[in-house]
Amino acid sequence: MKKIAFIGAGAMAEALVKGLIAAEQLPAEAIWLTNHANEARLQELHSEYGVSITRSRTELLRDAAVIILSMKPKDAEAAMLYLKEAKLKPGQIVVSVLAGIHTSFLEKYLPEGQPVVRVMPNTSATILEAATAVAAGVAAGSYEMRLVSSLFETVGTAVQVEEEAMDAVTAISGSGPAYLYYMMEALEEASIQVGLDAFIGKQLLIQTFKGVAKMLEQSDLTPAQLRANITSAGGTTAAGIGVLEEQGVKAAVQACVHAAATRSKEMG
Ligand code: NAD
Repeated sequence: MKKIAFIGAGAMAEALVKGLIAAEQLPAEAIWLTNHANEARLQELHSEYGVSITRSRTELLRDAAVIILSMKPKDAEAAMLYLKEAKLKPGQIVVSVLAGIHTSFLEKYLPEGQPVVRVMPNTSATILEAATAVAAGVAAGSYEMRLVSSLFETVGTAVQVEEEAMDAVTAISGSGPAYLYYMMEALEEASIQVGLDAFIGKQLLIQTFKGVAKMLEQSDLTPAQLRANITSAGGTTAAGIGVLEEQGVKAAVQACVHAAATRSKEMG
């Protein structure tokens, strides 16, 4: 690929820049960024990563194979007007990371047939461990989907879904890190309550989370089977899980995901 252009040089753009450079997918200077009235931020990214920065729309978009929209959703319309005036070349792929913005909204501003791909990464992109879902707009085919998936695989894993699934994706992996941080917060507080030093409790919990994620990745067993395997009748784990069941924690978690999916639908 010749060149990637980012419109919006915030946290998500930086995570992707880091991933692309680490994966050696293309040289740093082939990654171009522009931003909204924040020259210092552009300079910072240039010094840190050696990427190219510009205020010129023509320079930004010339020969860009992929154009990544990475501003907040509220700024999408302004960015699309900016792209509309630019008159993109056929085949230049417009990629949106904007939560809750449908590809049909973006396509309205583009010539018919311009490929648009929508992605939903999550915050772990900053440490190259994002879970990303990728969905095609009307004019994006398997070539565009493969190319965009491979870009997002540089910051974690990427799966292809139909766009209808994006609200569910947002509710699971988009917001998911916050649910797990919430769980971690509760466990950290509890570790202190049962007498552990805060630092030691945190270290034990971090490794416990990592171990569980790796075990799920490497094992053929379901979470329910893995849990059953380590829960002996009358034991300590059974005592703890019994309280979770009594207090309806599974139903609460499911209600949480439903609420997030509903909110995502309302916002779209
Ligand atoms: P951010 O606020 O850190 O960065 C956005 C940048 O875009 C800002 O620096 C702003 O100045 C610039 N900008 C706004 N409008 C512009 C325009 N018209 N032209 C050029 N630059 C413009 O935001 P972020 O956290 O990087 O999030 C960006 C997008 O990524 C959001 O739409 C969000 O929904 C999506 N996203 C973020 C995460 C995450 O974990 N941060 C996860 C999934 C999706």
